Amino acid sequence: MNEEANPFESLQEQIDDAAAHLDVDEDVIERLKHPERVLELNLSVDLDDGSRERFRAFRSQFNGDRGPYKGGIRYHPNVSRDEVKALSGWMVYKCAVVDIPYGGGKGGVVIDPKEYSAAELERVTRSFATELRPIIGPDEDIPAPDVNTGQREMNWIKDTYEKLEHTTAPGVVTGKAISSGGSEGRVEATGRSTMLTAREAFDYLDMEMEGATVAVQGYGNAGSIAATLLEDIGADVVAVSDSSGAVYNENGFDTRAVKEFKRETGSVSGYDGAGEEFSNDDLLTLDVDLLVPAALENAIDGELAEDVRADVVVEAANGPLTPDADDVLTERDVSVFPDILANAGGVTVSYFEWVQNRQRFTWTEERVNDELERVITEAFDTLVEAYETHDLPNFRTAAYVVAIRRVVDAYADNGNWP
Ligand code: GLU
Repeated sequence: MNEEANPFESLQEQIDDAAAHLDVDEDVIERLKHPERVLELNLSVDLDDGSRERFRAFRSQFNGDRGPYKGGIRYHPNVSRDEVKALSGWMVYKCAVVDIPYGGGKGGVVIDPKEYSAAELERVTRSFATELRPIIGPDEDIPAPDVNTGQREMNWIKDTYEKLEHTTAPGVVTGKAISSGGSEGRVEATGRSTMLTAREAFDYLDMEMEGATVAVQGYGNAGSIAATLLEDIGADVVAVSDSSGAVYNENGFDTRAVKEFKRETGSVSGYDGAGEEFSNDDLLTLDVDLLVPAALENAIDGELAEDVRADVVVEAANGPLTPDADDVLTERDVSVFPDILANAGGVTVSYFEWVQNRQRFTWTEERVNDELERVITEAFDTLVEAYETHDLPNFRTAAYVVAIRRVVDAYADNGNWP
């Protein structure tokens, strides 16, 4: 892992790479490389033992030209201002590439949630929600789950917001529990778009998914569900990892059993069905048909990219490749399908959840999954068309060319004011 690459600089480089293929004024592009505003907080929260701790927290509202700011809230010890800024920018282009009517935002709290009780996490979350209240809302900025947050945290935010506003506003956050306005299919959505992107990519590249070998780095929500859905369409998931280590089985894992094992023991390491144990870097450089990085940013840097032996990379995580890694893999003809398409299922089903909240009408899981499949396959086709017609160097640049064009058009229509 390359600790050096600053994700915000990576985002800016990705925008510049695409801008080189677009006829857009330099000052407009420059505007698209910086957040509109960033809120930085110091939350003072009472702990169970009577002491009080201070937590740094951020919310970046990157761009609202296409609709309300939209994006998750992450709880992780490595959260930083620049990371949140980058993640919020990726949300802008992600929402644009799948053409849903949102801008981009992101939040984070510098915390290792494993070290705190549920009551402490609730106080942290409600404190954050109270501070966010003036700038969030169903038409302003809509948080969602991200690394180490889920339905529980979203429900705390919704409840805090609604109580303080004396209203009901389920659309203020997405990724809620089903019983309080969540959508069918939301939990699986990120993994599902990863599977759909891989399926379309294999089809496009004339590769067979049946019997294809897959390595998945990260076995949280996105990684574990992508693994299972890929297994369900015939792939053999031969290696998986999480922050505690990696496991390999040349015959392919029963991905549901691995997930159950992780639920019971807290990690994939030591899973019974595994052959030998091996390292995270062994996984990333394994000779497989498909590699799915599904953990954090900067999993693969330029040096490691030289050793990647997968034919196709589909990014379930946000920003798992450094720009150097991108250059190396482009040079080496490895097809990389970018995060802003592959993991866009999460925010797409968030959009469906928000639509259902506004309509006060719920959709079936089948309807959600059908609509998601339509959105992702259409976005895939648009990306490939841009790649081919503009003779672009890789699929990430193609995704940014499509997405930046859409944001620039909205900005031009709105006008530059104030
Ligand atoms: N955190 C997810 C992402 O990075 C989902 C965001 C959302 O649903 O708003 O795309």
